[in-house]
Amino acid sequence: GLKFIIVGGVAGGMSAATRARRLSESASITVFEKGPYVSYANCGIPYSLGEVIQKEESLILNTPKSFKDRYNLDVHIDSEVVKIDPQQKTVDVRVQGEKTIERYAWDKLVLSLGAEPFLPPIKGIDLPHVFTLQTIPDLRRIRCALQASTRVKHVAVIGGGFIGLEAAENIKGLGFEVSILEAAPQVFTLVDHDIAERIHTELRANGVSVHLRVNIKEIQPGHVMLGSGETVPADVVIAAVGVRPRTSLARDAGLKIGSSGAVSVDHFMRTSHPDIYAVGDMVETENRVLDRALPLALAGPAARQGRIAVDHALGILKEGYRGNVGTSICKVFGLAVASVGTSARVLQQMGKKPLWVTVYPPSHAGYYPGAQPLSLRVIFEPESGRLLGAQVVGKEGVDKQIDVLAMAMQTGMSISDLEHLELAYAPPYGSAKSPVNMAGFVGTNVLRGIVRIMHPEELVSSGFPLESIQLLDVRSPEEFGRGHIPGAVNISVNTLRERMDELDKNKYTVVYCGVGYRGYLAYRMLEQNGFEQVVNLDGGTSLFFSGG
Ligand code: FAD
Repeated sequence: GLKFIIVGGVAGGMSAATRARRLSESASITVFEKGPYVSYANCGIPYSLGEVIQKEESLILNTPKSFKDRYNLDVHIDSEVVKIDPQQKTVDVRVQGEKTIERYAWDKLVLSLGAEPFLPPIKGIDLPHVFTLQTIPDLRRIRCALQASTRVKHVAVIGGGFIGLEAAENIKGLGFEVSILEAAPQVFTLVDHDIAERIHTELRANGVSVHLRVNIKEIQPGHVMLGSGETVPADVVIAAVGVRPRTSLARDAGLKIGSSGAVSVDHFMRTSHPDIYAVGDMVETENRVLDRALPLALAGPAARQGRIAVDHALGILKEGYRGNVGTSICKVFGLAVASVGTSARVLQQMGKKPLWVTVYPPSHAGYYPGAQPLSLRVIFEPESGRLLGAQVVGKEGVDKQIDVLAMAMQTGMSISDLEHLELAYAPPYGSAKSPVNMAGFVGTNVLRGIVRIMHPEELVSSGFPLESIQLLDVRSPEEFGRGHIPGAVNISVNTLRERMDELDKNKYTVVYCGVGYRGYLAYRMLEQNGFEQVVNLDGGTSLFFSGG
């Protein structure tokens, strides 16, 4: 049988190894993992740190012995591959603590080396109280540092991405004071700023101190000094500013590196060498929204790519990897935030002119107890309506909405297709018009010109030229009294038909309400009564007043 060598024994590597065995009893399959564990749940590490997952052993899903027993795999831990010889088809392996190097031959080599935590070039980043959070040894080191003394009270997390947010929540749960230090104007940069505001609110409500737009000057024992002059107390610092594909081994072997800096592979996960495959965090794959190859550090793609590589190596695969849309979700205390595709902000930065709509449906029928408001944004192409991205944040049902939207994107649906989706409904679970349908209705109305919208940030950047625009608040007088956009006049949507003559038909009119629905009703009345220049404020004031 074929001789497989698999390098890296976690997500991509172990799915490749076990798949290879399921397909071929005669193959020889050897896995080298440089760390002390294989097949561990790295995604569970933050929750183990927070003792939500109480037993650390729960993270270790398999051992070399269990892999030998069930799959007849030869799994070597503490064994680092230090060199690949693509001509001779061998790898050199160094076992931890030993000087000698062993050489192993392969027919097919699968690399799943993962990604390296990136350490920003900050003075003091190499101090002993600064940690990254990626492996079980990292987890133990952080746990040790937190328990080292009762004087350890403050933890600073550098970076507000997935791992930073998960670390912050879990460490806060242990009773420490936690600060997040983020260089961008928002955490979770996969979503647009106004959507991220809900995360900031949730973090602060849970006692996490959120510092945005920070420029870290220096890490010192006990605190982090910011460029602003501010000092953030930090007995322990977690650096979670992202990862970089591990490429040096592939580079040294002469394998092609893509323009993103990750290893370049074809649809079958083949590198530039016909018998060397690479999968997971170390490779770049086609981003289906941006039509270019980019790395994507997520567990699902790594696991599926591992299977594809082996299927191809064994000659049973006709169709390869389809590329990715970047479907992801993160828990932040009581909130879930999820994203797929590309944000409106990033698309705009790339010079594109996407359309987007934002709706605020309840997570299930509002009249059934326990419904929670969702913020759901769908981004699409102006002419075709092709879906470019979606973002959902809320306390319930976020995972369901994002998965529906991710499916829609992967099947090439447009915003108008969302109108037609038939989704499960009973009051405890959803609404007859599901949140995704609602986004489809609103988006399709925009595409068909049934409503024209303006986004809150466009209104802000227009600088409120009040003399030239008519700002109409169609909420009730009570709501208006509790706060409104400066300069707005208040005519409730229920009285608008009678009071329309108080308005100037020739002025550019911006209508708004709380979330956009009453504004839409008012828009339709005004437009049909000869107001030619009306826009409805997308999403109403809900995000506007949250600071977005
Ligand atoms: P890895 O799983 O990282 O495996 C690579 C392995 O290769 C490592 O064990 C490494 O030691 C080994 N290795 C490297 N070089 C060598 C060498 N020269 N010789 C031998 N072995 C080597 N993704 C999600 O989708 N959802 C989540 O919720 C999520 N949470 C995460 C939380 C944390 C704390 C972390 C760290 C990651 C999380 N991820 C999550 C990302 C996900 O874990 C990765 O995308 C996935 O594990 C990538 O799989 P991989 O096989 O490419 O790399």
